[in-house]
Amino acid sequence: MRRRSFLAATAAASLLASVAPRRVFAQGMPSGDADPAMSSPEASLRVLLGEGQAEAIGNDAFLFNGNRYRGSFSVLADGRVVNDVPLEAYLYSVVPLEMSPGWPSAALQAQAICARTYVLQRSNPRRDYDLVPSEADQVYGGTRSESDAARAAVDATAGRVLRYGSAFAQIAYSACCGGHTEASSAAWGGAGFPYLEGVVCPYCDESPNYRWTADVPVDEVEQAFGAALAATGGTLRNVRVAAQDASGRATAVQLATDGGGTVIRGSAFRSGLGNRVIKSLRIYQLAMTGAGTLHAEGGGLGHGVGLCQWGARGYASRGGSAADIVGFYFPGTVIGNA
Ligand SMILES: [Zn+2]
Repeated sequence: MRRRSFLAATAAASLLASVAPRRVFAQGMPSGDADPAMSSPEASLRVLLGEGQAEAIGNDAFLFNGNRYRGSFSVLADGRVVNDVPLEAYLYSVVPLEMSPGWPSAALQAQAICARTYVLQRSNPRRDYDLVPSEADQVYGGTRSESDAARAAVDATAGRVLRYGSAFAQIAYSACCGGHTEASSAAWGGAGFPYLEGVVCPYCDESPNYRWTADVPVDEVEQAFGAALAATGGTLRNVRVAAQDASGRATAVQLATDGGGTVIRGSAFRSGLGNRVIKSLRIYQLAMTGAGTLHAEGGGLGHGVGLCQWGARGYASRGGSAADIVGFYFPGTVIGNA
């Protein structure tokens, strides 16, 4: 995963409907300007596949390491293979990898609109490729991931993107917000965007991660934050949320020791113990127990910025359209043509 800056895509956790959330990702660029070279939905997109064996199997498909991909391929000077693929064909593979194809069509359509907008923000004619096929951008796997439902969602929204004014909206999404989405500025800094300030989300409570608990042995906590603790001296005595932002996410965590302790950023606390252990920064309870563990209770999975994927599922199951969904999570944006 790339650094979570506003110039780089980041991944968080999206998920498959019936199994545990897999991943997510976010992103955002400071200017919000579209790249004119990729402003047409018919334009070809360059996805770096990496090292491997590529072999054409017709005019519009090839095999890479045994898997079929749409489009054509080229080989960079260093031997890595790049897939040149039409945007809509790329989305056929991405949408069902970013959201379970068994979810309601309106949710899949909202995902398609988000994924398409994300790509159009990101293409870069000065690089040898536009995107990588992983969570750092969007997960892409060729035709093996495609499904009729996801293809239908892409086709139903063909060429449709999310705009704020004349610019493409900055797109972020994560698996489950836990009841309140996060402001992009709180998650990643910067000035933020009017449509990414965070909203109360009443739709994601069917997510298996809507509420979660974690119990981490104290020695693991001490190991994770050894450098910070060494500077304060003393034994770790307790851990608590020291500050929260407007969405209820921890911005600071205090590590209390005999020597007084120290305060670390919430994001450093989460990444230090593992993003799949502390599944979000919406932490409701955090304290050391007498049993030698740090007990945490929280809600949601991922950074929480932008589209809440489980919320999209819930809103769709209540009759919401794709336009309702993206309008709810990105208020003030409009759906337009690419
Ligand atoms: Zn939500």
